Parts: sequence; structure tokens; C-alpha cells
Amino acid sequence: MTKNQLRKYIKQLMREYSPKQLEALSLPIIEHILSHPKVLSSKSIILFHSLPDEVFTHSLIDTLYSQGKRVLLPKVVSPTEMTLHEYHGPNSLSLGAFGILEPNNEVTDKVNASLAIIPGVAFDKDGNRLGRGKGYYDRLLPNLMPIYKIGVCFPFQFLDNIPHDLHDISMDEIIF
Ligand code: ADP
Ligand code: MG
Repeated sequence: MTKNQLRKYIKQLMREYSPKQLEALSLPIIEHILSHPKVLSSKSIILFHSLPDEVFTHSLIDTLYSQGKRVLLPKVVSPTEMTLHEYHGPNSLSLGAFGILEPNNEVTDKVNASLAIIPGVAFDKDGNRLGRGKGYYDRLLPNLMPIYKIGVCFPFQFLDNIPHDLHDISMDEIIF
């Protein structure tokens, strides 16, 4: 299967689930993240504000923020590039490219995060990641200091093997 065929296949599988079912599937994943040693020990965490077809992270972001963690969210700033911005509560978000709620404040130059929680269309047991096909995370992640990368997805998005290229940045762990 090519990357694009796999993206279409996952999209088909996703249709079988209602928003409520996807939110229910998200709950144990959120619990797992909140109790993860790397999350507990990190002061600064790169996260993402979920779209309807992604593991639901809105409450997770606010929980971590209320625990006093520094939460950094990506913002799409060009057809190839994302920047990171510190989260300051729900009012600090605005609708951005691709319908994603993104921070509307200044870019964070000193990222200093040791952990990133990353969405994907599919992941495999070797940590390979398939995204939506624009390579945003493949470009963002190499610009950061070495960072522990946790991919998150629904169980049906976790596969034995997925196609990947040399430019694809792999994850250290997948939670599904
Ligand atoms: P995704 O990771 O979103 O699934 P792909 O891995 O298919 O997307 O990459 C999408 C496009 O971005 C490809 O054409 C790829 O060559 C390009 N790309 C990915 N990473 C880089 C990079 N670090 N520098 C330049 N181009 C890149
Ligand atoms: Mg890629």
C-alpha cells in the first residue's frame, strides 16, 4: 500500500465511528498520557489541538495547563512550516489553517520542551508515523533539541507496518 492509499483506507475506517465513539476511545488514551512518567516529569510539553478525527486533546491541554505545565501548540504559518506558541487558555486560540484552533500569540523561540505528543493518520510498532501528507512534523521536529516523541492515535490507526521514507521522523512510543 502507498501512503496515499493508507490515508484513504484509514479515512474509510474512521467513517464507522461517531464523534461520541471517538471521544469514548480517547478517554483511556488521555488517562494514559496524564499518568505517563515523561508527562509527569516534563515542565514543558508540545501538544496539538485536536480536529474531530483525532484523539480528543482539548481537555488534556487544559488539564496539563492547570497543573502549571507549559503547553506549546503548533501553528501553520506557510504551506510547509509550523511554529510553536505557548498556550494561555482557551481564549488564546483562533481558527487557523485546516480548521485547527491555533494560538494567536507570538512565536516561542526558546522551545525547551523535552516531550512532544503528536497526532498521526497511522503509526506502526516500529514508531513510524504517517501524517496527512504535508510533512509538517517531519520539518518541525528536526529543528528542536532532542525530544521524546509520543504518537497518539485510535486503536484502528495502529498497524504492524506502514510505508515510510527516509525523511519521516519516527516516534519513541505510540499510545493508542
Ligand atoms: P506526512 O509526514 O504528513 O505523512 P510525507 O511524509 O508524505 O507527509 O511528506 C510530505 C511531503 O513533504 C513529501 O513530499 C516530502 O518529501 C516533504 N518533506 C517531508 N519532510 C521534509 C523535509 N524535512 N524537508 C523537505 N521536504 C520534506
Ligand atoms: Mg512524513
